[in-house]
Amino acid sequence: DTARFIRQSANVWEIAPHGAMRVPAIIFASEALLRDMDDKVVEQISNVAMLPGIVKAAYAMPDAHWGYGFPIGGVAAFDPEEGGVVSAGGVGFDISCGVRLLRTGLREADLHGRQRALAAALFHDIPAGVGSHGALRLTPSEMDHMLTDGARWAVARGYGTPMDLLHTEEYGRMADADPHQVSEAAKQRQRDEMGTLGSGNHYLEVQKVSQILDANIAAAYGLHEDDIVISIHCGSRGLGHQIGTEFLREMVVAAPQHKIALPDRELACAPIDSALGQRYLGAMRAAINCALANRQILTDTTRTVFAKLLPAARLSVLYDVSHNTCKVEQHEIDGRKRKLYVHRKGATRAFGPDHPAIPEDLRPYGQPVLIGGSMGTASYVLAGTPQSMGLAFGSACHGAGRSMSRTQALKQFGGRHIVDELEQRGILIRSPSLRGVAEEAPDAYKDVTAVVAAADQAGLAHIVARLEPKICIKG
Ligand code: 5GP
Ligand code: MN
Ligand code: MN
Repeated sequence: DTARFIRQSANVWEIAPHGAMRVPAIIFASEALLRDMDDKVVEQISNVAMLPGIVKAAYAMPDAHWGYGFPIGGVAAFDPEEGGVVSAGGVGFDISCGVRLLRTGLREADLHGRQRALAAALFHDIPAGVGSHGALRLTPSEMDHMLTDGARWAVARGYGTPMDLLHTEEYGRMADADPHQVSEAAKQRQRDEMGTLGSGNHYLEVQKVSQILDANIAAAYGLHEDDIVISIHCGSRGLGHQIGTEFLREMVVAAPQHKIALPDRELACAPIDSALGQRYLGAMRAAINCALANRQILTDTTRTVFAKLLPAARLSVLYDVSHNTCKVEQHEIDGRKRKLYVHRKGATRAFGPDHPAIPEDLRPYGQPVLIGGSMGTASYVLAGTPQSMGLAFGSACHGAGRSMSRTQALKQFGGRHIVDELEQRGILIRSPSLRGVAEEAPDAYKDVTAVVAAADQAGLAHIVARLEPKICIKG
């Protein structure tokens, strides 16, 4: 039933405001993706459109699926001058979960005869799985430094180089983080989890560039056909999850005080200008730094593994971008520049060419947008477009998006079978959990190629290169 949608263009669908909606809801998708989309997405994105101070519209990306309160693949911006809110559920529990892409300087041929050894060494050295610990144990004062300085702290401690920071969102350090707003419980959980991948959908994947779709931008990004690259997908581990859980609870309790009527208690939020809103923002930014530091340490571990096995490799960061954040950004709305609090939950920032937030050498081409597919299908690199700022505050999809729940996937797929089947296709999966592999079965996700095509055709981001998996270390 697509009757409730106004089709704005081939890949843009609008739900006009009705009931308590303050603004329209807009879904970016092809007709086929929209038809298959979870009904919950429509309900959830319409609920988001009811929140105080929301600007322009509530958006769902083509990979959208059901989430906690906000859909995964949801984007919404709020203006503090109009009573705008910040929502813990609108950021997500894995605060600053994101993807970092490393170039290696290697070609596919360089892996011949070494792929098994590389998979074994990565699996051995990259801490993965529930409750895995890193080699580091942070003292309370180091913890606060890490939460304040992010990847810059990691580089200062010898994990990686200043060049890595240049190609990381926020140049590796999220400003205005407040470690004092992070509870002892959150810090306790994170004490020995730095440099770990975590479990579930998190991965470190060795990939081959299988197709170049925009030669000009790919060259500028340093990507060529048959290049070997590495994607690291993980977030702020136990710390982010603890912060999300604690503030969500507080926001539910405080909502009546702030005179916020919640269409769904999972949408708990607080005014940006309230003490609670400010405390959350300080803690959330600290969690962003935790995620940036975590991916930086993992980069260093990966370099050490490659130095042992493939010493010709030179690992350099193309980009590191998060997909679970709330960030203060300037956006032009009807000719007026406004400071907005942009929530991206399971959505990637996708700033277009010439934006000052993009590192200088990449700036003319648009920000790299890093999109996972699954362990058995393609992943993609896209670039932010000139139109993307005006479409959904400079945002795009972050993955293929789930097409079935974990429970459903567990019923339908066997982990061992998936590992064997992929091995036949030359893809090596190494994971501490076969159950996890089943939950993450390639067929539990939407068709990533259809998702990025919709994003590209809608103008959110432009397809640059297609990647195929070779080795996947899965949490
Ligand atoms: P999320 O951040 O929502 O947990 O996951 C982001 C996206 O990563 C998912 O929508 C999915 O398309 C993709 N993904 C999940 N597992 C894997 C994997 O093992 N390899 C790759 N390349 N992508 C994955
Ligand atoms: Mn995550
Ligand atoms: Mn993620």
